[in-house]
Amino acid sequence: MSGINSVESKLDPVKAVYSQVIPAGEPWIRELKNGQYFRIVDLYGNQAVDTLFYNAHDYSDRYSAQDTIQQQCNIYLTTGTKLISTNGTVLLTIVADTCGRHDTLGGACATESNVVRYALEKRHMHACRDSFLKAVIEWDHGMTKRDITSNINFFMNVPVTPEGKLTFEDGISDPGKYVEMRAETDVLVLISNCPQLNNPCNAYNPTPVQVLIWDGVGA
Ligand SMILES: [Zn+2]
Repeated sequence: MSGINSVESKLDPVKAVYSQVIPAGEPWIRELKNGQYFRIVDLYGNQAVDTLFYNAHDYSDRYSAQDTIQQQCNIYLTTGTKLISTNGTVLLTIVADTCGRHDTLGGACATESNVVRYALEKRHMHACRDSFLKAVIEWDHGMTKRDITSNINFFMNVPVTPEGKLTFEDGISDPGKYVEMRAETDVLVLISNCPQLNNPCNAYNPTPVQVLIWDGVGA
């Protein structure tokens, strides 16, 4: 596939200060300090990792898909992409990426979209928006449904056709592929390891992913 570039990281997982496996379908929330490195590993391949980022000191200053796309003049995210906030802050920079392309147009699955995309009886199936909400309520720092805005779908393949159509396709990620970012300020990360069973983005089988964090200096 043209335009897909693999850039590897030099960071050693043994030196990570944090490592955690997020089970299939579960949310995860944690703060990164300015300068820390953050990696998401697609352990089994083809797993969509729905992710939101916030300025850790002001949750109203949050990841903006629109500003990120505009700034880089490209709809896909990969190495070199600066993840821009609604206030124009660079929250993180993607510094390595062995998958090569990530989506930020497809949005997060919700019980409503389960009905629209699939069927009425899919409404009550577990969805990312519910996972996000559950995580911010448990985080208990005053975030609500209003704070759940347009997200990134790491490892998700949503190509745009020459006619401008969005198509949800089989993943382009394989087991062990990863994406790595450097926090450019203190950042709150919110992940829904997508529980969706009806979409080829997860190969109809949600699987665990791993998150790792390294301290910046000498990492
Ligand atoms: Zn989802």
